[in-house]
Amino acid sequence: MPPGDLLAEWEGMAVTDGRHLFLEGGAGVEIAAVRGTRDILPGESRLWAWVEEAARRTCARYHYEEIRTPIFELAALFARGIGEVTDIVEKEMYTFVDRGGRELALRPEGTAGVVRAVLEHKLYAGPLPVKLFYVGPMFRYERPQAGRYRQFTQFGVEAFGSADAALDAEIISLGISFLTEVGLKEWELRLNSIGCPVCRGPYRELLRSRLEPLRHELCVSCQQRLDRNPLRVLDCKEEGCRRLTEGIPPIDEYLCPECRRHWESVQEHLNALGIPFRRYPRLVRGLDYYTRTVFELVTIGLGSQDAVLGGGRYDGLAEMMGGPSVPAIGFAAGLDRLLLGLEAAGTLPEPGPEVDLYVARVGDVPQAQVLRLVTELRRQGLRVDMDFLGRSLKTQMKTADRLGAVFTLVVGEGEWERGEVLLRRMSDGSQEVLPREGLAEKVAERLAAAQAIARGEV
Ligand code: ATP
Ligand code: MG
Repeated sequence: MPPGDLLAEWEGMAVTDGRHLFLEGGAGVEIAAVRGTRDILPGESRLWAWVEEAARRTCARYHYEEIRTPIFELAALFARGIGEVTDIVEKEMYTFVDRGGRELALRPEGTAGVVRAVLEHKLYAGPLPVKLFYVGPMFRYERPQAGRYRQFTQFGVEAFGSADAALDAEIISLGISFLTEVGLKEWELRLNSIGCPVCRGPYRELLRSRLEPLRHELCVSCQQRLDRNPLRVLDCKEEGCRRLTEGIPPIDEYLCPECRRHWESVQEHLNALGIPFRRYPRLVRGLDYYTRTVFELVTIGLGSQDAVLGGGRYDGLAEMMGGPSVPAIGFAAGLDRLLLGLEAAGTLPEPGPEVDLYVARVGDVPQAQVLRLVTELRRQGLRVDMDFLGRSLKTQMKTADRLGAVFTLVVGEGEWERGEVLLRRMSDGSQEVLPREGLAEKVAERLAAAQAIARGEV
């Protein structure tokens, strides 16, 4: 259908809601991505594949297996799992009612869905611990800014069925291995224990009694937090609130004996692994479900959005969601922010060649024959492309160069009639005539040899 007809059709369909699709006087169609979302184009998508590959490789080494849960769930799941009194549930959820009248939400984080799946499929009744990871998009209605989007991607890890501090250390070690794998060398591990509901109660009261007299000096959000979740006043980013909470004793001095032992054991395990950490009493994390260990890996040089990976233990969550008691721990890493951090640090990998081989057609060689040759070469596992626009040899050579081809196969009229083609090595322009017969295997051999030399193996 010609573009004009398509436009007329669109206009007829009234798909303009004023936000997602703009039609301008019928002259053109301007379609823009929704605020806070963006397209990952070739070039950048290569980096995403590379980061995700690093995540998968790391998880394989630690024996964590992938789980894929739906992108939307019942909204109540998140309200229950994350906590009603959290920024995410109060202000940031994309909730909607579907045609069946169900209250749904695009997932703002991964843990609630994973816990739901573990309970629904009774994975806790199988071999323990259950060690899972996920990579995928999350959605939060936030004010978009650098490193903060409305659709972003998290890589997360969750382990169920053991309260052992060794598992806390393993998960943290996995997070660091992942950051190391993608070349992020400058990080700080911030670590805290926020105890269990038993030891948290008295500490909460301590906070309330200390902060109540200062209520009107706190920021508006913290005045609300004081009533509903005073722990969260501790991690307020406002300078004023930070000053007011400075003298308050750290929560880890108020742990019950069991939580204290666990906290000490986590630190011992990290020491044994040689992982440096900073005890960070202000770290309480935004979500209600955490118990005991909470941690963040923070990159240096990314401004205020510097937390790239955060997590903790959530021993009470499965029970809170109606299941049996299943201790668990996990983390989530923001991959958008991680990539920004790597870009700022200048450590992103250089783009590699896009093809191994380019096939240039000169003169009247039938296009179908060339396409067939290209297909044979691809069957050998080579990455091959050719010209589809009838361009000159010179332009085709330039394209081959731009794509990083090691060789160009020049299919010229004269040679083709004699059953031959010309193989040109792009690095030095040296050429070799090869018979058409058995060509794909020969080219594959030449390429393997050239690549071995490039790797310094020969
Ligand atoms: P922040 O304090 O920056 O809002 P958060 O506490 O809400 O972070 P978590 O819920 O712990 O973040 O999510 C884990 C990671 O996901 C964060 O460390 C961050 O890298 C990433 N992340 C969170 N929200 C966004 C967003 N809106 N856009 C991009 N990445 C995000
Ligand atoms: Mg947030």
